[in-house]
Amino acid sequence: MWHREAMSVVKVHGLTKQYGELNAVAGVDLIIEPGEIFSLLGPNGAGKTTTVEILEGFRPRSSGSVSVLGVDPNDGDSTWRNRLGIVHQNSQDAGDLSVVETVHHFAKYYRNSRDADEVISAVGLDEKRGSLIRNLSGGQRRRLDVALGIIGNPELLFLDEPTTGFDPEARRQFWDLIKSLQHAGTTILLTTHYLDEAEALADRVAVINRGKIVEVATPATLGNRQNALALVKWRDGESESNQPTEFIKELAAKYHGEIPELQVIRPSLEDIYLRMIGE
Ligand code: ATP
Repeated sequence: MWHREAMSVVKVHGLTKQYGELNAVAGVDLIIEPGEIFSLLGPNGAGKTTTVEILEGFRPRSSGSVSVLGVDPNDGDSTWRNRLGIVHQNSQDAGDLSVVETVHHFAKYYRNSRDADEVISAVGLDEKRGSLIRNLSGGQRRRLDVALGIIGNPELLFLDEPTTGFDPEARRQFWDLIKSLQHAGTTILLTTHYLDEAEALADRVAVINRGKIVEVATPATLGNRQNALALVKWRDGESESNQPTEFIKELAAKYHGEIPELQVIRPSLEDIYLRMIGE
């Protein structure tokens, strides 16, 4: 069984997808390893959803090879589907059922489902257990979507913009939930427009633009971020430096101690990302 466990969860080589004349996905290679949180970043229309839906078996590809949990999604059967969890951008389900009814109902579709009540607690919906879905707020709806994505205890979880509409506290709680799923062994493919979310959660990020992968790296090293100049700012001036510690020592000597309003600013993941996609 060793070789099975060590197998990559997602393997994509030379993936393309054309819609008529448009090359929406134009030769993508991707490897996602077991237990990894991998984030796909890219502007609107970059090809993220198309790529993800090909991996999920919902869209046919034009060319290339794809393996998800060792199976070509074109041949994915119900056993394979049972091992996936999917949280789409827009979900629609019966608004006339309550939260608790819905989660219990979905649990029955899976062979290895998690405890429905525990999942409701984990997504922070205890107080809304008895509420009808149509009466939930936007953020609560999204939490329910996440609950339904994880109820089957998936080996691979697809999260498409999972925290859209969450308030800041709910986002932090959700991040904790995602990290706990990772600790329990779930591999996660996260699509997000929130760069801080990718930074907080992802082991690796891939930037995709116009259907092509621009770079795959850790959030700390994307776009050579670790070597970017630091901006040192203080009350009386600012300066860019690749050795900010030295610079600050000299500055401190000039001020005979405390430098007024000192800040050392490094480019955020968002700064690097925007530079990469040419904004
Ligand atoms: P967003 O961040 O806006 O969700 P995305 O990266 O997920 O964008 P895709 O939805 O994969 O982008 O779309 C990639 C390109 O393919 C876009 O130009 C889009 O208009 C086009 N496209 C997507 N689906 C179809 C379709 N069914 N038919 C024709 N064109 C499509």
